[in-house]
Amino acid sequence: PDEEVDEGEKQRRELLASYRGVWVFIEQTEGEAARVSWELLGKGAELAENLGVELCAVVLGHQVEHLCAEAFSYGATKAYLLDQPVFRYYRTDPYLDALCYLIDRYKPEVVLMGATGLGRDLAGAVATRVKTGLTADCTGLDIDDKRNLMQTRPAFGGNIMATIMCDKFRPQMSTVRPHVMPMPEKTEGRSGEIIRKSFAINEADIFTKVLEVISDKKGKDHVDIAGAEFIVSGGRGMMAKENFAMLKELADELGGVVGASRSAVDAGWMPQERQVGQTGKTVRPKIYIACGISGAIQHLVGMQDSDMVIAINRDREAPIFEVASYGIVGDLFQVVPAITERLREL
Ligand code: FAD
Repeated sequence: PDEEVDEGEKQRRELLASYRGVWVFIEQTEGEAARVSWELLGKGAELAENLGVELCAVVLGHQVEHLCAEAFSYGATKAYLLDQPVFRYYRTDPYLDALCYLIDRYKPEVVLMGATGLGRDLAGAVATRVKTGLTADCTGLDIDDKRNLMQTRPAFGGNIMATIMCDKFRPQMSTVRPHVMPMPEKTEGRSGEIIRKSFAINEADIFTKVLEVISDKKGKDHVDIAGAEFIVSGGRGMMAKENFAMLKELADELGGVVGASRSAVDAGWMPQERQVGQTGKTVRPKIYIACGISGAIQHLVGMQDSDMVIAINRDREAPIFEVASYGIVGDLFQVVPAITERLREL
């Protein structure tokens, strides 16, 4: 029986070893890729280099071949392309069938997707179908000396960072939050190999139909804090909704936007789309100014990768100072207008 176990183990290892390549699923809407896909190509290039394998983009859609060229410019060397009318709009079933077909046929070692609405839906369905593990909402990815993907994500309400690996199954699958990984440099004109496939699927067999597409372009008041270069964020220390006007003035001086902690959002002082942190957005601006924010771990995971953090808090023991490049111990109601005033003089 021992020999049989050894034989089984050997076969399993051989099977795992037959999976090769790092894949990044390129999420697109109407031919435009989600930025997180390019961020993942940046990280994917690093993983592929460590593993000594190819970095591949997986592009599904209709009239989306240009995305393969864009993926090459961000570091992919190969692209699997399924370009058919049936893939024009994202629907779970056809995307699931097609991606599982590609995985079965080409056996990637690692598959990465953005932790967006689409990525969360598709990755879970694919992992279930191909019977492998999935680590959702990762904030860090690395390769260990046994070719395992070490997937780090906040756990237990953000109080610990858990590193998870999937050493018994392939592919190793992760979704990664947008803006966690830096954007890679773009090198126009880099070429790669496109593997064009066509997948036999009938529109009539798909239960979900797209009847109408309503654009989610928000009104003029909509602000994308995730893409902002300067963010002035307020927390419970702001005391009241109207005091955020003071942060807006500072943000305007910097050409930035106003963000908030969850306490400020829960108090109704700021809309949810401005929340920074584990259950809000991940941001990495050039400068993040935290005003009256204590620095709970759930807030820190959303902003600690900012290039520079300036914290204003009257409590010198506040944990926010541990991640701050510059800390001002003082009353924000005096400090913030003073900074704005000084900037106006410059
Ligand atoms: P507090 O912790 O109350 O801090 C207020 C700070 O203001 C204090 O440090 C105080 O010294 C300072 N202050 C008060 N008055 C002044 C003044 N006049 N001048 C200067 N400083 C002053 N939180 C998030 O932010 N984002 C998330 O995405 C998020 N997700 C969560 C998910 C889970 C599962 C859980 C359990 C919690 C989550 N939280 C999140 C909540 C988080 O744990 C904290 O409760 C929250 O971040 C605290 O917000 P705060 O720093 O604004 O408030």
